[in-house]
Amino acid sequence: MRTLPEPVQRLVDAFSRLPGIGPKTASRLTFYLLRAPEELSKNLSEALIGIKQDTGLCEICFNITNKDTKICEICASEQRDRSTLCIVEEPLDVLAIEKTAGYNGLYHVLHGVLSPIEGIGPEDLKIKELYERLKKNDFKEIILATNPSMEGDATAMYLHERLSGLDLRITRLALGLPVGGDLEYADQNTLLRALAGRQNLD
Ligand SMILES: [Zn+2]
Repeated sequence: MRTLPEPVQRLVDAFSRLPGIGPKTASRLTFYLLRAPEELSKNLSEALIGIKQDTGLCEICFNITNKDTKICEICASEQRDRSTLCIVEEPLDVLAIEKTAGYNGLYHVLHGVLSPIEGIGPEDLKIKELYERLKKNDFKEIILATNPSMEGDATAMYLHERLSGLDLRITRLALGLPVGGDLEYADQNTLLRALAGRQNLD
């Protein structure tokens, strides 16, 4: 087959744009769906639309939440320690840290990292919102839990400089996390150790 029918090629192309999916996997998934019962495609397409239409960001921490709840479960919970704030890059990092069951404070999701090469500056992240939060709340400790990558480190350093005038303990996750890696891919024990061994930055 030199060329695929347009609807087939369209799905192959769409899959190819996802992270971790090369052209081969994209074709395999597409041809799998072609053979599979129609119900599978229908569920998949509804779920795809749902993740955009039925979700929103928590008004406080910017974690992903249901569209009809303005505040996420963590921010709403009375069981959480409201004196500690963990700053992460993405909602998936919240999930990774929650899975360790070693942290009971609150979160702030930046939705990215500073990256001069990609033209991402502080104004593109939820940093202004972070300052507002720090003004209004009485946090005792800020944990900078951005990824141990070049951009993650640079973002942590930037925040550390900006926040060091405040009366706060500022910590960074301990080494032991794979350098250049993502929090979301770290195994639970490694992440738990990094959290427990977090170090003061000042
Ligand atoms: Zn929240």
